Amino acid sequence: MGNNDNDFKEVEDINNEDKTDKESKNADFEDVCFVCRRPESKVGRMNKFPNHLCVCTDCMNRMMETIGQFDYQGMFTPGSNGNGNDDGKDGDGKESGWDGGFPRFSFINLANLQGDGGIPNKQKLKKKKKGSEPIIDIKNIPPPHKIRASLDEYVIGQEHAKKVISVAVYNHYKRVATDSMDSIEIEKSNMLMIGPTGCGKTYLVKTLARLLDVPLAIADATSLTEAGYIGDDIESVISKLLAAADNDVERAEKGIVFIDEIDKIAKKANANSRDVSGESVQQGMLKLLEGADVEVPVGASSKGAMVPLATINTRNILFICGGAFPDLEDIIKERLTRNSLIGFGSTLKNAYDKEDVLSKVKVEDIRKFGMIPEFIGRLPIIFTLQGLTKDMMVRILKEPKNAILKQYQKLLELDEVDLKFSDDALEAIAEKAMEQDTGARALRSIIEEFMLDIMYEIPKDDNIGTVTITGDYIRGTGGPVIGLRGSETFLIAEKDPAAAIGAESPEKAD
Ligand code: ADP
Repeated sequence: MGNNDNDFKEVEDINNEDKTDKESKNADFEDVCFVCRRPESKVGRMNKFPNHLCVCTDCMNRMMETIGQFDYQGMFTPGSNGNGNDDGKDGDGKESGWDGGFPRFSFINLANLQGDGGIPNKQKLKKKKKGSEPIIDIKNIPPPHKIRASLDEYVIGQEHAKKVISVAVYNHYKRVATDSMDSIEIEKSNMLMIGPTGCGKTYLVKTLARLLDVPLAIADATSLTEAGYIGDDIESVISKLLAAADNDVERAEKGIVFIDEIDKIAKKANANSRDVSGESVQQGMLKLLEGADVEVPVGASSKGAMVPLATINTRNILFICGGAFPDLEDIIKERLTRNSLIGFGSTLKNAYDKEDVLSKVKVEDIRKFGMIPEFIGRLPIIFTLQGLTKDMMVRILKEPKNAILKQYQKLLELDEVDLKFSDDALEAIAEKAMEQDTGARALRSIIEEFMLDIMYEIPKDDNIGTVTITGDYIRGTGGPVIGLRGSETFLIAEKDPAAAIGAESPEKAD
């Protein structure tokens, strides 16, 4: 038996060496059972073997039981009690004569299983560090007016939405920070955002998450299906959040999940077949929205992959759903007119056409649209965003901290060229964007289009000091105004920046 003892000592020594070598490196990671893949935090102390192999006590016992039940056909030498899972001693504590070969018989060399591409034996899961700073500190949550002021730096207009979201987020994190278990439990402030495409829904949430320094996962409701069907499981959004939090479970549990295009999972009218991507997804999301323990794979989007699982509680995750809800206006209008018909006659029928009908939305309208009551009930804060006007578009071009114009100006600054836009040009860009009906998203593609020529031509000529984009250039009826370095003369090109810059490009020579 002395041999065996030595073996175990060796194992321990190896572990000790490892500890000193890698202690600091591995401090953030948990051991994972090689057999069942559960982490140390779930299964308790691991039995460690050479090559960083860990097996949990449960699996160890199960293995021993299996070995015990195996008929070894006389492999045991006389004296063994045959149940295989004892410690090598008889009931009376005497050595039991194991020397017959079984104990040193190698059924499987576990270490061999760990090839290069083998299963990772460490789960990339950060352990809770004792005494570390809480992620959200009750004293450090910025008050609503400060959140709003920070949002103002990036998001133009949408005053109501910014106000609602600031208060909701403040309340949510207050709730998370106190985490009180007393009788008055503060309810979750999950949100539903309604607004046309490109009006800043995603941008608002992204900005918010960055300001609060919490992880954010953005998912598209159209890709979600009921578990088991082609498409992403509903729980995959939590997996994304964990990835966004660098696999730090504690951080992920305080993050934000934004689910876009939520209107696409409305109940389909007259659906005969099973509605795996509509109502079922709403049903499936109920428990996530409320708060549930979800097992998600670490570092993969599918549970089928051989990856460790982590348990995430969604109780403190803030869910924000957004959607354009087309035709919702008609539903609201219908309700409003119906009500007014009762009292004042039909003269009011079209009075709502000119108003911002969307802002009058009520839960019953969303229900009529096709969202199930349980789902809407879990999104207590409902607010709308306005469609962008031409003025807002112009402001979006130049005012936000990272405005598109500022980005191009910075790019050209590196070529020591001063890029200017006339007011007329900004209006022309906004008008073009309005025509596309895709909100502020159109702005970048329009600018990209006409800046291409400018950015192609300018580096050719070192004499160029300033470039002014005019409305005529945007409308295709003129060219940009080019100013030469150290000279007051301006050249105005006829439609073509290459002509203005006067570069003899080979293409032009032809
Ligand atoms: P959606 O409402 O469809 O989610 P996004 O938020 O993705 O639209 O908006 C697209 C882009 O348009 C954003 O990346 C942002 O640059 C710009 N944008 C939209 N609305 C605003 C706004 N109100 N203020 C500033 N930028 C905006």
